[in-house]
Amino acid sequence: MAVTELKAATAPRTVAILGSTGSIGCSTIDLLKRNRAAFRVEALTAHRNVALLAEQARELQVRLAVVADPERYKDLKAALSGSGIEVAAGAQAVVAAAARPVDWVMSAIVGAAGLEPTLAAVRHGAVVALANKETLVCAGDLVMEEVRRHGATLLPVDSEHNAIFQVFDFERPERVERIILTASGGPFREASKAFMEAATPEQAVAHPNWSMGAKISVDSASMMNKGLELIEASHLFPVPEARIEILVHPQSVIHSMVAYADGSVLAQLGSPDMRTPIAYSMAWPDRMGAPVEKLDLAKIATLSFQSPDMERFPALRLAREALQRGGAVPTVLNAANEVAVAGFLGRKIGFLDIARVVEETMNAEQSGTMESLSDVLETDAWARRKAQERMDLIQR
Ligand code: NDP
Repeated sequence: MAVTELKAATAPRTVAILGSTGSIGCSTIDLLKRNRAAFRVEALTAHRNVALLAEQARELQVRLAVVADPERYKDLKAALSGSGIEVAAGAQAVVAAAARPVDWVMSAIVGAAGLEPTLAAVRHGAVVALANKETLVCAGDLVMEEVRRHGATLLPVDSEHNAIFQVFDFERPERVERIILTASGGPFREASKAFMEAATPEQAVAHPNWSMGAKISVDSASMMNKGLELIEASHLFPVPEARIEILVHPQSVIHSMVAYADGSVLAQLGSPDMRTPIAYSMAWPDRMGAPVEKLDLAKIATLSFQSPDMERFPALRLAREALQRGGAVPTVLNAANEVAVAGFLGRKIGFLDIARVVEETMNAEQSGTMESLSDVLETDAWARRKAQERMDLIQR
């Protein structure tokens, strides 16, 4: 057996990939193809990209392929005719795919659309590799409660949380003094406000270190991504918000750190390639090889750090405020951000309008507890309407 291959257990592990056609989904499939003997793919899901979904489904000989957009059902059916692969369409079919009793689920749908499928995977007690951070931002308490209730295992895929997971002493959390979330600073790390005011979607998605989907790339440019990660970290790790710091580290080599009471600071390092945390979550608690560039610190030579600029990146303040206010506010922040990012990518609003839309929507929020899925869905829908109204008022 090559050192890069994962040892096949007595039977292959069954897996499902939610969002298989996205950036994380494709990286997951790349790793699966290199470890065919260790996994059997039960289900793949996508939103609209039928051509890629069908290609993946045939190549991996999956049992079920689901497209969320019902209008694409016929196309998918045609693309998979004669393959023997089951085909379904619609949001509820994605949830049903997630509910199939497999060993491991990759949750890599973008946005709050991933919430119900992720909950379905959690409820059958799977090992859930969680890339879809918006799920924890909009419904963290609910999701973590369901994880406990159903004995599911949540493995963070976000590189920062994956790093923390690897160095966090869960046996002695009281000895953890701080979590330090590192941030690349994105493409506008050094940009002036005037530049950002006029920034185009093309400039915003051009991340210096990572290759990612459009939404998370814009979130990285606004640093809302780090704000979402702050909220995500507060649910995943037993550390209060005030002791979760954000540190700009432009090289994206240290993926995050945990500081202990005795002054030790433990970090996880690696090349900026999501296949490392994905491989970690696939093999956990074992390790497997990943075809990533080996880290060469002598070549990199310099690792630098700086405090985030809260003035140029108001999303950081908004996310911390949402976490402190709690209740419905993180759900509102997430939904408003999704609407505003889509508006920016559609050239309806400017880059700096994203944070303005989020702030105004958050300020319109009166109160609200998030006790059930319907509370979350209602708040999410309300925030989307409010954010859309605010966006409509902005003249470009
Ligand atoms: P992409 O936009 O590249 O892919 C998103 C995936 O979700 C696609 O498969 C897409 O299908 C599917 N999808 C989109 N909307 C829906 C919907 N309404 N219902 C069902 N499926 C849907 O995103 P990324 O892979 O970049 O990100 C996925 C998640 O992982 C995000 O939450 C992101 O924050 C997180 N993440 C991503 C990282 C990265 O490096 N990319 C790093 C860390 C976290 P289709 O292709 O058909 O549109």
